[in-house]
Amino acid sequence: MKSISKVSKKGISCGLNKHSRRNFLSNALKITAGLFTLPVTGAFAENTTSDGKKKPVMGPGGKYDILVAGGGIAGVAAAVEAQRAGMKTALIEKTVFTGGLATTGLIYIYLPLCDGRGTQVTYGLSEELLRLSLKYGPGDIPQGWEKGKKGPASPRFRVEFSPASFILALDEFLVAEGVDIWFDTVVCSTIVDGGQVTGLEVENKSGRSALYASCVVDATGEADVAFRAGAPCVETDNKLSMWVIMNSRRAAKKTSMQGSAAERLPVITIGGDNTGRGAPERSKKYRGTNGRDVSEYIIQSRQLLINELKECYAKEGAEKRKEYFPMTLAAMHQMRTTRRIDGLTVIRDHDHSKHIDDSVGMVADWRKKGYVWEVPYPSLLPKKTKNLIVAGRCISNDRDAWEVMRVIPAAAFTGQVAGLAAALAVKNKTSPDALETADVQKALKAKGIPLHIKDII
Ligand SMILES: Cc1cc2nc3c(=O)[nH]c(=O)nc-3n(C[C@H](O)[C@H](O)[C@H](O)COP(=O)(O)OP(=O)(O)OC[C@H]3O[C@@H](n4cnc5c(N)ncnc54)[C@H](O)[C@@H]3O)c2cc1C
Repeated sequence: MKSISKVSKKGISCGLNKHSRRNFLSNALKITAGLFTLPVTGAFAENTTSDGKKKPVMGPGGKYDILVAGGGIAGVAAAVEAQRAGMKTALIEKTVFTGGLATTGLIYIYLPLCDGRGTQVTYGLSEELLRLSLKYGPGDIPQGWEKGKKGPASPRFRVEFSPASFILALDEFLVAEGVDIWFDTVVCSTIVDGGQVTGLEVENKSGRSALYASCVVDATGEADVAFRAGAPCVETDNKLSMWVIMNSRRAAKKTSMQGSAAERLPVITIGGDNTGRGAPERSKKYRGTNGRDVSEYIIQSRQLLINELKECYAKEGAEKRKEYFPMTLAAMHQMRTTRRIDGLTVIRDHDHSKHIDDSVGMVADWRKKGYVWEVPYPSLLPKKTKNLIVAGRCISNDRDAWEVMRVIPAAAFTGQVAGLAAALAVKNKTSPDALETADVQKALKAKGIPLHIKDII
C-alpha cells in the first residue's frame, strides 16, 4: 500500500501509511468509542500526520475512479461522461442543487450552440443538457432547430429555461446515469502526493473526511482544486451585478397568455452587464477569491435590489409591493469570472476562426455571428499537477476568449471533454496531461462530436 503522509503547501496530504493495517483495529475501536468526529463505519482511519496534525479520514465508500468537484453544468457533464465510460464517479457539490450558476445562480439563458449563420457548432452533452433543461418547464427549441445541425440564422439555437425545472431534470438524469452525488459537501482541500492529486478533503454533515480517486476533475468554476494543488492560476475583477426572478403583474398576465419562457420567468438584471456597463458608479471591483470579498459582493448586490424596490415603491406607492417583489434570490454569488488556471495552453482573443491541431471541439461566440472557436485540449490541463483536469468557466483562456468559454454551452462541452479524458487516463493508468491528444480526439469523434471548423462548414 502506498505511503502518503505529508502536508502539502495548500492542502493536507493524507491516506494510508504503513501503519494503517496495524492501526485499523485500534482506530475502529476509537470510532466506536466516539473519539473521532466522523461516524465512519467500516472506514480506514489515520488520525494524525507525521507532524502531529489531524488527518482527514476516508469516508464510507471513499474510493472512486473519478471525483468531480463542483456540480455546476461543467461538473454534471464531466460526471455523466465519466460514469458512461464505466468509471465509478462521485460528484461533490457544496449546495443542495446541481447546475451551479445556471440554476442556483438563476442564469436562465442557455446560450447558442450554433454560429448565428445556421450551423450547429457545439454537440454532445452540451446539446443533451440544453434539451434536458426544458423537460419540466417552459421554453421551446427555436423553430427550425428541433433536430439540430442546420437551422435558421435567426433565431439562434438557444433556449430559456426555468432554473427549478432544470434542477429536477438534472437530479433525475444524474441518478439514472448512476453518478454518486454528494450534496451539501464542500471540497475544502486537495490531497496531493508528490505533485499527483490523489483525492479531496471534504466537509459535510458527517464532519471532515477524505475521498480518494485515480483522477480528479476541477469543475468548481473558480479553479479551487487546482489552486489548492499548487497549479498556477490567474485572477480577475468583477463589477456588481444581480439577476433576480420577480413577481410582477406583467408576468402573471403572460403566464395565462402563453408568453415565451423569458416572459413567464420575469428575471430582472440590475448592475453591470458582461462588459461591466450599468454597474453603480464608483462601485468597488470584487475578486471573488477571498471570503471577505464574496460576502461583501453578496450584500452589495442585494442592496442593488433593495434600492430598486425602494425607488419603485416610492414612485408607484407602497401597495406596489404586493405585486412587484422578488420570488427567489440566487443562492450563490453571481460573479462571472474570478479565477482560472494558467494551463498548458491559453486560448487567446485572436484564436477564433482558426484551425487548431489539438482541438477537441468547438464553441460559438454568443455575441457575434460567424465567430467560432476551436478548443485546444491542453487548455483544460493545469501546469505542475498530475491526475487533475479542469472544466467549465475556469479553463485556461484570456480576456475576450474567457467571455466566450465561460458560458453554459461551453461549460457543458468542456465538462464532457474533461470526463472523457479523465476516464481515458484512468483506463490507461496515466494522468490526463500524459494522454495523446489524438486519443482524446478519436474518442470524441466516435461520439459524433466534430473537432474542427472544416468538419461543419
Ligand atoms: C451575471 C451572470 C450572467 C450570465 N449570463 C449567462 C447567460 O445568459 N447565458 C449563459 O450561457 N451563461 C451565462 N453566464 C455564465 C454561466 O452561467 C456560467 O459561467 C456557467 O454556468 C458556469 O458553469 P460551471 O459549471 O463552469 O461553473 P459554476 O456554475 O460556477 O458551477 C460550479 C459549481 O461548483 C460548486 N462548488 C464550488 N466550489 C465548491 C467546493 N469547494 N466544494 C463543492 N462544490 C463547490 C458550486 O456550488 C457550483 O455548483 C452568466 C454568469 C453570470 C455570473
